[in-house]
Amino acid sequence: MIPFNKPYMTGRELWLIAQAHANGHLSGDGPFTKRCHAWLEANTGASRALLTHSCTASLEMAALLLDLRPGDEVIMPSYTFVSTANAFVLRGAVPVFVDIREDTLNLDERLIEAAITPRTKAICVVHYAGVACEMDAILAIAARHGLSVIEDAAQGIMSTYRGRPLGAIGELGALSFHETKNIISGEGGALLCRDPEMGERAEIVREKGTNRSRFFRGQVDKYTWVELGSSFLPGEVTAAFLAAQTDAADSITGQRLALWDQYHAWARAHEEAGVLRRPIVPGHCTHNAHMYYLLLPSLEARTAFIAGMKQRGVGTVFHYIPLHSSPAGQRYGRAQGDLAVTDAISDRLVRLPLWIGLEAHLDEVLQAADAVLGEIA
Ligand SMILES: *Cc1c(COP(=O)(O)O)cnc(C)c1O
Repeated sequence: MIPFNKPYMTGRELWLIAQAHANGHLSGDGPFTKRCHAWLEANTGASRALLTHSCTASLEMAALLLDLRPGDEVIMPSYTFVSTANAFVLRGAVPVFVDIREDTLNLDERLIEAAITPRTKAICVVHYAGVACEMDAILAIAARHGLSVIEDAAQGIMSTYRGRPLGAIGELGALSFHETKNIISGEGGALLCRDPEMGERAEIVREKGTNRSRFFRGQVDKYTWVELGSSFLPGEVTAAFLAAQTDAADSITGQRLALWDQYHAWARAHEEAGVLRRPIVPGHCTHNAHMYYLLLPSLEARTAFIAGMKQRGVGTVFHYIPLHSSPAGQRYGRAQGDLAVTDAISDRLVRLPLWIGLEAHLDEVLQAADAVLGEIA
């Protein structure tokens, strides 16, 4: 069986973990955490990057930092992972689901203004498959209406929008290092703060609502509870693992892009034959090859494709069940309009395996896909 995903390890993870062990600093914010923070700040342009347990935790921090209150509304796509919505619902806020664009499958910025009400506080964009949302238009709408912009950049590390790294364009950005992402630490994430004042507050929220970090820097003479917060920081063993990965980020991205390009070249003939649609990456965006997906003509075709690939020993998956049609999404959120693109894409999208090491099996995957597409066409 060729699995859908296989976490990549650079080979240096255990060596760096051994160093963390030798350092004797195992809780958070030790030398490896600082090294990862410096890498993230240098590579995203964020004024402050903070490691967290997960992208989910980073989004929960964002909701705390924006001081969202019950009944406040946050505009977001329905075509996303549950954490995008859950983080805000935990604060009593209401997710307002807006449809996505047909080309990038990202939040459709042309539909945002119609969803704004006096209770709207923020827009949470999701850069699907590591391809950027139309950030200039979204930032302009946010500025016109006094809204905050949060980026769920779980899939977006090493991607850019008009030259700007994803996650550091809005006020707050959330990255994921889950083992299904490009750069990994098992579970893990980061919060990126564009502006220094937000960074100061984020440090407090992440340290149980205390000014402990300032105390350790000698900026205050005792530390105390100053804000609402929780414990969002990972230990040094996780940070050491991540440091091995960030050191290899260029090579990881390059190897993934090479696989992505091969898929894209292969799928072209099928697209021209009208059997499927390939991913679209706008010219002003660079992407990180987080994902290769195909859009098949119908739910039936997609179901047959996944079954046919499985029969030939290749793991493929679909996602997402749109949040506006999930039980919790219906209870806690509100849909703006009919979300027709979201529903259609969610029925038709299938993801192909994309992991470092797949090079040796790619011909097999493509032959299987050719055969299955021939059967369902
Ligand atoms: C993976 C993912 C998340 C969750 O990331 P965790 O680090 O597992 O919490 C959130 N949003 C999107 C869009 C994702 O792809």
